[in-house]
Amino acid sequence: VLLAISLAIASCPQVPGAPAPDREAGRATENVILVTLDGVRWQEIFGGADPALLDKESGGLKDVELVKKLAWRETAAERRELLMPFLWTVVAKQGQLWGNVERGSEAVVTNGLNFSYPGYHELLAGFPDPRVDSNDKKVNPNETLPQWLARREGLRGRVAAFASWDTFAWILPEREGLYVNAGMEPVLVGEPNARQALLNELMADVTPPMDEVRPDALTFHSALEYLKAQKPRFFYLSLDETDDFAHQRRYDRVLQTLQTTDRWLRTLWETAQSIPQYRGKTTLLVSTDHGRGSTPADWPDHGKDTPGADHIWLAVLGPDTPPLGELAGSEKIAQNQIAATVAALLGEDYGAAVPRAGLPLTAVLAHTRPGK
Ligand SMILES: [Zn+2]
Repeated sequence: VLLAISLAIASCPQVPGAPAPDREAGRATENVILVTLDGVRWQEIFGGADPALLDKESGGLKDVELVKKLAWRETAAERRELLMPFLWTVVAKQGQLWGNVERGSEAVVTNGLNFSYPGYHELLAGFPDPRVDSNDKKVNPNETLPQWLARREGLRGRVAAFASWDTFAWILPEREGLYVNAGMEPVLVGEPNARQALLNELMADVTPPMDEVRPDALTFHSALEYLKAQKPRFFYLSLDETDDFAHQRRYDRVLQTLQTTDRWLRTLWETAQSIPQYRGKTTLLVSTDHGRGSTPADWPDHGKDTPGADHIWLAVLGPDTPPLGELAGSEKIAQNQIAATVAALLGEDYGAAVPRAGLPLTAVLAHTRPGK
């Protein structure tokens, strides 16, 4: 009986409440998971541990030999796979990786400021705004993509965001149809399962090592429980610790966090593939809000006066994205294009509603039927 019902639903696009994929464009994606890792450099994504920073002075390493054992190999290809095995054994083979400057693939921030709030604003709204010029807790003057999606048919109530940085409550204010969980905020949606109950307890008990930031492990595991229970169609996960450790000039901790984060990306992806709503119908995008300096002196820094801090990167994996792997000699792409790309994957035309948003990335969406 169950099989007959699901077949009937599958063959009938008019079923009320069923997701409405962009059938005209022939896309398979019905769900999007967007992850950002704060202030992660393209240098680590594409080169793994940076040899210039593996010491006590420039990298602030506590135990140089231990870090080398965990993250050092002779070639950049070995180092990056050791640092981020999911990115390099799965995404690089089945998806796309943009932003390796050394191979002529550039991904840039266009807001000119190269720090967090302006970056998240550009990424989520699809355009920079000169009024967004600080990390202060000020309500975002613009609507962003998650809020816009939460007003769309078939997406209302199915849009959610989890962030380590508490300021996301201002960057991305919650509204009807959109759930936002930011900073040390317990998850009180529905009946928390045993795992979430413990995570909520830890949020009450842990003294956060960083001001304004929930430890990423609490954010990630809460997000994962939410994904499994609520099954949002657009899910945004914003992790933060990479930036905090970089500002502290603790390259060892940056590397450790990246290795852990890569493991979480794999868990997120494999969990999604184990759930019928997501299996084969979900696109994962991973990016960052800004880059950082490129020298042993200025790598902890970023901002408008730090050369190279405008360079970011983008990873995409999903059924509509051709497996181009690591892009080389590609078109230059920008942070302001991510919002419209996410919308297009969900069958929505963000540019029609927000004309100043950057254009969708056609190379990410190339698995579409001609004729639209
Ligand atoms: Zn940042």
